[in-house]
Amino acid sequence: MNVGDKHSIFTRAVHAGEEKYKYADSITVPIVQTSSFVFKNMEDVRSYTSKEHYRYEYGRYGNPTQKAAETKLAALDGAQDCLLFDSGMSAIVTTLLALMSKGDHLVITDDAYKQTLMFVIKELPRFGLEYTVVKMGDYEAMENAVKTNTTLIFSESPTNPYLNIVDLVKLKEIKDRTGVTTMIDSTFATPFNQRPLEWGVDLVMHSATKYLGGHNDILAGVLLGGSALMGKVRDFQKATGGIIDPHCCYLLLRGLKTFALRVDHQNRSGQKVAEWLESCRYVHRVYYPGLPSHQHHYIAKAQMKGFGGVVSFMLKTDMNGVGRFLDALKISRIAPSLGGVETLITHPASVSYYNVEKKEREMLGITDDLVRLAVGIEDPDDLIEDIYQAMKTAFD
Ligand SMILES: *Cc1c(COP(=O)(O)O)cnc(C)c1O
Repeated sequence: MNVGDKHSIFTRAVHAGEEKYKYADSITVPIVQTSSFVFKNMEDVRSYTSKEHYRYEYGRYGNPTQKAAETKLAALDGAQDCLLFDSGMSAIVTTLLALMSKGDHLVITDDAYKQTLMFVIKELPRFGLEYTVVKMGDYEAMENAVKTNTTLIFSESPTNPYLNIVDLVKLKEIKDRTGVTTMIDSTFATPFNQRPLEWGVDLVMHSATKYLGGHNDILAGVLLGGSALMGKVRDFQKATGGIIDPHCCYLLLRGLKTFALRVDHQNRSGQKVAEWLESCRYVHRVYYPGLPSHQHHYIAKAQMKGFGGVVSFMLKTDMNGVGRFLDALKISRIAPSLGGVETLITHPASVSYYNVEKKEREMLGITDDLVRLAVGIEDPDDLIEDIYQAMKTAFD
């Protein structure tokens, strides 16, 4: 590799993980679309199995296109090792099951990604694994939840949909006092805005479906960290599968080339849209870590470079009014997900939480007037104009 730590993240996004001269003099990393790899002869088999040289063996254990994407991602997050999965959830589930054994205990914060929390609550006990859910931001509760059998503290930052921020200094202190491994889902931040490994977190996970892929066209998951922990997860993945295919790795590599450019733009657009929303007469409240009004603004400022493209806000209206507003938008698409080039907007009460009773939804903070805007790479002024015309159409 010719590009390393001394280069900026913009340069690393383009070049890191790639050989300067590639197969057939290609500029781009080739898609090695194969399920298995040929041994030249039995001597080749012997020298491989006796670890005299490294080579690829079978697709489930690795592929050169995958390796290039993993090396690039490791360079972006400053990680020793990286492992790709077929989705973000696959990365989370594989990691939890690889690192926990019967009788072990997990601590998780309460506003984690809904499917992560559901997996912990519904599935872990089936395998004899215990958990404690603690309130996000309550570090005393987090530390008190640690027991002798606690193997992992799992948190997320920023969180969905309120963009709460974990204090990585406090998390490190708890890790130092308890000796428990820490893991952060850093999907909303990306390595452009936050590099948790540098703050002492042991494992970082991303849904590469979001900003890293960046084009709303793939599902992928990333795990990053030190070799010992990563080795355990890699061995487990060899058996469980959940691997990413070479073509998807190529799309991820292609997306990563412009990753820094996109997130830099999305940071600025997110801030601009959030500030505009905060001054808008149809809006009741805005949640964005880049706003001084956000409860964790001071933590975000200390540990993040930018605050991303997701802005959540509450409209001065009811369920029907939100519906009229969403239907009147011309640019933003009604869809879950975030971090891609297209701006997407969701109404959590009627999408992610459609099957949860209104009272229970509200206890989880998912009120009917809440929408989550995931800003893409369009011109923020066009987005603002579109949002404003939709509000006038819906509310006047
Ligand atoms: C989307 C997402 C996931 C799950 O990732 P998939 O790629 O959809 O499986 C996990 N955590 C966060 C914060 C997410 O946004």
